[in-house]
Amino acid sequence: GVADIRTQVLVLGAGPGGYSAAFRAADLGMSVVLVEKYADLGGVCLNVGCIPSKALLHTVDIINEAAELEAMGVSFGKPSVDLDKLRAGKDRVVKKLTGGLAQMARMRKVQIVRGWGQFQSPKTLSVEAEGQQTLIEFDHCIIACGSSAVQIPGFPNDDPRLIDSTGALALEDIPRRMLIIGGGIIGLEMATVYSTLGSRVDIVELQDGLIPGCDRDLVKPLQKRLDKQVNRILLKTSVESIKALKSGLKVSFAGDNAPEDTTYDKVLVAVGRRPNGHQINAAAAGVEVDQRGFIAVDQHMRTNVPHIFAIGDVVGNPMLAHKATHEAHVAAEVIAGLPAMFDPLTIPSVAYTDPEVAWMGLTETEAKEKGIRYEKSVFPWAASGRAIGVGRDEGMTKLLFDPDTRRILGAGIVGVNAGELIGETVLALEMGADAEDIGLTIHPHPTLNESIGLAAEAAEGSCTDLP
Ligand code: FAD
Repeated sequence: GVADIRTQVLVLGAGPGGYSAAFRAADLGMSVVLVEKYADLGGVCLNVGCIPSKALLHTVDIINEAAELEAMGVSFGKPSVDLDKLRAGKDRVVKKLTGGLAQMARMRKVQIVRGWGQFQSPKTLSVEAEGQQTLIEFDHCIIACGSSAVQIPGFPNDDPRLIDSTGALALEDIPRRMLIIGGGIIGLEMATVYSTLGSRVDIVELQDGLIPGCDRDLVKPLQKRLDKQVNRILLKTSVESIKALKSGLKVSFAGDNAPEDTTYDKVLVAVGRRPNGHQINAAAAGVEVDQRGFIAVDQHMRTNVPHIFAIGDVVGNPMLAHKATHEAHVAAEVIAGLPAMFDPLTIPSVAYTDPEVAWMGLTETEAKEKGIRYEKSVFPWAASGRAIGVGRDEGMTKLLFDPDTRRILGAGIVGVNAGELIGETVLALEMGADAEDIGLTIHPHPTLNESIGLAAEAAEGSCTDLP
């Protein structure tokens, strides 16, 4: 049929990938239509991911910190939590950001079409909302349809007591007994939130350690603290079955350390995310989607169809907002004819747990597996005046260098604010900085980021004993 809307660039999905692509394309002078099934912009990250989780983590961090002030002679007593207000506070944070996005879209004249988008042909997409169809014809398209939480078949997935991260962030109640399936970043962040709010939390993880993919020595201080905070951490254990009973969800475990069947009030499944490539009728546009739902792209974010691009969670791991944003800018710029390419040396990862764990570049585990030569320098926060001052000296900063060129290859930090600290090392890697560059850079004292300079100095063989 005849198109209702014609546009130069159509962006499908308004998460961090989609809105960033739409805004950059508009800034480059192109007409842009942004299609999103939800009323609010921002996708998973703003509505049910990064932002609400961090708002809650901030709150529980303060609860925990306040409790620890007792050692300094200050006590507040047991916190009382008004769950309705906490939820409303978190929702306010989200609304402020999603509202800001809507305003930025208006300012840039990005046209938002709400509804479910499905390709009709290589040049058209239909959007359905409340029985109404809108046909959009485009010159270029950027697919940014994201990912969804993985469900485990055979579990009572329709039972409201079995939740995913979205359900956990909805904060309906504080379950007395809670099981978290999956000891990855999302599972552990939610464990931190719920255990501080008063739930008795068990964590079950199939692998033999938490946050698979992260160096074991970085995870250790986190696990030590979590051990005190949660009821049980069950490693090398899987959930065999879940039975929905009136009294709760009865869980059977399997594995060497499998405990007895246990009944929980809520079970959170946090075992990973699945790309949404199969829900956009990509075949009509000729865009190839693999079995898992990923869409393959080249370094210009181009799919197998030259005028259709894809970005964000749907193009592959790591599924992180900052990756999506950078890919978004590349896609928009390539469409505008600019010489852009997605070619980062690294994409940093952060677990916003307590303590935080952050890493980038080569990890020590990976170096060992692949036989990559490296020189390691570790600065333990037990030697950091600031870390001791804030009562959190369990952290450490680890830098890996190329033994020949002395250039930084990777970094890992565990400790409070590790996520804020890792950025400097990412810049160092991108700039090709060596141990001397970092060690000779004057870091302010006393700070936690000083630990990066001190680790680099130690690598230079001139370790100072600055407290
Ligand atoms: P998404 O954010 O998934 O957005 C895709 C959008 O497309 C959605 O709004 C969806 O409704 C829409 N859509 C899909 N198909 C259609 C269709 N057919 N028609 C219309 N609309 C459609 N990342 C970080 O970097 N830092 C963090 O701290 C962090 N914390 C997280 C915490 C949680 C609990 C979760 C679940 C994720 C977290 N992430 C974090 C990951 C981050 O949210 C994602 O990497 C990011 O949202 C991916 O962006 P995206 O644009 O690819 O897709």
